[in-house]
Amino acid sequence: MNFVESIRIKRIMPCVADPAKIRVIAGADRELGEILPYLDQRIPNALYSKKSGFLTYKRGVSLITLHAIGEIAMAQIADESDANAILEEIKDKINETFEERDQIDLTTQKKRVTVGPLDLYGYLPKTNCKECGEATCMALAVKVLNQERSLDDCLYLSEPKYKCARDTLVMLLKSAGYDVE
Ligand code: SF4
Repeated sequence: MNFVESIRIKRIMPCVADPAKIRVIAGADRELGEILPYLDQRIPNALYSKKSGFLTYKRGVSLITLHAIGEIAMAQIADESDANAILEEIKDKINETFEERDQIDLTTQKKRVTVGPLDLYGYLPKTNCKECGEATCMALAVKVLNQERSLDDCLYLSEPKYKCARDTLVMLLKSAGYDVE
């Protein structure tokens, strides 16, 4: 028996941080909360928050977030066909994990994901405008990782067009264990 029968795209939006990519919201045909802790054990670089009800992980340059309510958000996706292929992969992973859930030890501690300056730089505006007080966006990325500065120091990230980029930066930092909202 499958845990999930279908996952369908609900919305496709542009990803302003990278105009060549899209952001996708999809919906599964049921809630996912029950399977998320098992997926956390099966996806090595995943971050799972039971309290917030989500699991997020990087897949290449893309960032995938599965919400307990059954919604799936994907950022930095090449196109709709790429999105459908990834959703099919997620569905298979969920069903495979569900089938093997009795062999998964939920008490195993996981290692943190490593995030470097280039990972953050990829989602910053990359204009080197210096308004944050740093000479370059890369310099801000390094300082955010050193916890000397925060994402809020780049005012551009609060603009609606950078929402996708900011959400991705927050997920990346959280997956590396940073306390960031
Ligand atoms: S304010 Fe933002 S766009 Fe400007 S240099 Fe700093 S990080 Fe880059």
